[in-house]
Amino acid sequence: MTTDTTTPPTLSLQPTATHCPYCAFQCGMTLSVDDVGDVGIAGNPAFPVNRGSLCVKGWTAAAALNHPERLTTPLVRDADGMLRPASWDEALDRVVEAIERARERHGNDAVGVFGGGSLTNEKSYLLGKFARVALRTANIDYNGRFCMSSAAAAGIRSLGIDRGLPFPVEDIAGAQVVLLMGDNPAETMPPMMQYFDEQRANGGRLIVADPRLTPTAQRADLHLRLRPGTDAVLANGLLHILIRDGMVDAEYVAERTEGFDRVRAEVLTYWPERVERITGVAEAELTRAAQLLGAAGTAMILTGRGAEQQAQGVNNVSACINLALALGLPGRPHSGYGCITGQGNGQGGREHGQKADQLPGYRRIDDPAARRHVAAVWGVDESSLPGPGRSAYELLDSLGQEGGVRALLVMGSNVAVSAPHLNNVAERLASLDFLAVSEFFLSETAILADVVLPSAQWAEEEGTMTNLEGRVIRRRQACEPPSGVRDDVAVICELARRLGSGRHFEYASVEEIFEELGRASAGGPADYSGITYAGIDANDGVFWPCPGEGHPGTPRLFTDGFPTASGRARMFAVRHQEPDEAPDEEYPLFLTTGRNLAHYQSGTQTRRVPELAEMTPQPMAEVHPSTAGRYGLRDGQAVRLSTRRGRADFQLKVTRGIREDTVFVPFHWGGRQAANRLTNPALDPTSRMPEFKVCAVRIDGAENTADDTTTTTER
Ligand code: SF4
Repeated sequence: MTTDTTTPPTLSLQPTATHCPYCAFQCGMTLSVDDVGDVGIAGNPAFPVNRGSLCVKGWTAAAALNHPERLTTPLVRDADGMLRPASWDEALDRVVEAIERARERHGNDAVGVFGGGSLTNEKSYLLGKFARVALRTANIDYNGRFCMSSAAAAGIRSLGIDRGLPFPVEDIAGAQVVLLMGDNPAETMPPMMQYFDEQRANGGRLIVADPRLTPTAQRADLHLRLRPGTDAVLANGLLHILIRDGMVDAEYVAERTEGFDRVRAEVLTYWPERVERITGVAEAELTRAAQLLGAAGTAMILTGRGAEQQAQGVNNVSACINLALALGLPGRPHSGYGCITGQGNGQGGREHGQKADQLPGYRRIDDPAARRHVAAVWGVDESSLPGPGRSAYELLDSLGQEGGVRALLVMGSNVAVSAPHLNNVAERLASLDFLAVSEFFLSETAILADVVLPSAQWAEEEGTMTNLEGRVIRRRQACEPPSGVRDDVAVICELARRLGSGRHFEYASVEEIFEELGRASAGGPADYSGITYAGIDANDGVFWPCPGEGHPGTPRLFTDGFPTASGRARMFAVRHQEPDEAPDEEYPLFLTTGRNLAHYQSGTQTRRVPELAEMTPQPMAEVHPSTAGRYGLRDGQAVRLSTRRGRADFQLKVTRGIREDTVFVPFHWGGRQAANRLTNPALDPTSRMPEFKVCAVRIDGAENTADDTTTTTER
């Protein structure tokens, strides 16, 4: 386990097999460190997921390791308001003092923890344990709440379990039809496209539902250019046609599902003309998509953030799951429903206890049996474990408020860029009594902190990640972190020691943490108890659930039933709701947000990689030529977007690949270019997912705008 600090980089001259630091595809790569410490990257053809391919982000990932802006010493904020270098001792003392002060004055729940979906399984687990055992706070959540929570909630309530893809990604190539709802892997995880290309080369058809003609949609046989916020209507409309035309798998529905009658009664009202009116998808295209799905021997319905990041995200996914169940897909070869996870450890990060309502193994924190089991593994009294805390946005919205969080530790997240309604989040961060941030770079969040802890990066640490298939893989250390940098595992354990809980955080290695995680997860929905580092090494990863020693893991779920009380999948009738905010006279267009090829999430790393910064140096607002004409705008000019929450500045890209009523912006930038200054924090009632993907916006040429008066993010 990496602990410190003063050792110079030790170099591995043997290539090390590990995985990309970025997205959930977790491409296998080998790292070679030369004798001056430069790291070379090659795709690993032996890893069966990416099969040697990497995207431009993966190829260039090493640039963030030896980057000149890398933080290599803790920083503390002085009385004059400036951050200055400090020793680890001083920095950790400050953190502990602030935690103790907040607890003394306001109670345990006044201390909050905000984690991330890129942290390893071991860190995610340890952070959850740290919050519950060392801090005894209910208030821990993470940025995966902004990513996967709607698909997770819908998967659990319908299928009994949340594993992004319930089959290996290679199964895609054998699907006769794939419907992708709101996902753009050609930009977000390009090596995945090899499976869609293979699928189409095998004679399969790809249908993409997206308001934009994305690079993925350009490769589709059918593009359904739906209006933002109407995904459930589209799915209900498809099911309406399947029922009308007798293309439902009645035997499967009768034997393996429950709730179909209620769903049928609901979707009867989604006749094609009505669906066309609401979604903007022509009746002929809707019928064509339904016919392709209904006639296919094997098919998949896959969702991405487009459908999920809405205040009705759970309903959107439920409507897609209904469609898959009505077609008899889950559990059949080359078929099923799946969600394409986004963040690097978006899957594992949501399984082991950094969610506000959760304990390791995907157990509920309000389940007495789960509490007893985990408390026994942790060696604490069950009654000492806090209950459910606030979800991510609600936690951020509580900062500095009466009864809210007063001291916050952020690890692996850049909330000053990635949270919705950023002007509010900036105000809330500024009102904290204390903020500590563990980061590699002085990110937009770290720059606001009272204490910044320089942390190790992916190539400098050991651990495991769980990719979008539920395959648990090894992140292997290829080089030492720079002198002065500590990894988060060491930091969490040391903070726990200083807070008086050290005996619960004594580990000889990261592997030992994984073994404890396995015991804590045993018997839970995400059971890792049979997974070992040796087993992962021998098998290119192990798919959970893997309950107990000698179990081979479970690459394909639902082959014999669903892990629900009845063993059947549950269908939920979904009624369309309008988005929280619809265009009106003042804000006449839809705004939707997303990613582009060159950048990852809040851009903390990728905006610092020269090749990527050069590829896409700034965010572009995409509008249709007719929209540009209507507002007197020209391609390439500066524009300002405004919503009820704030304003942000972009360069205009005029493209026919977007609906006339919609503006698209990427969310990888901060400050005046932050898309999340605009987004709506309306939450899904079940998943607590904010409505990132649809709100009402106005667009103006920059020369027509008044001075910016939006809230500053400086503390
Ligand atoms: Fe692979 Fe994703 Fe990394 Fe690209 S960003 S190399 S797709 S893991």
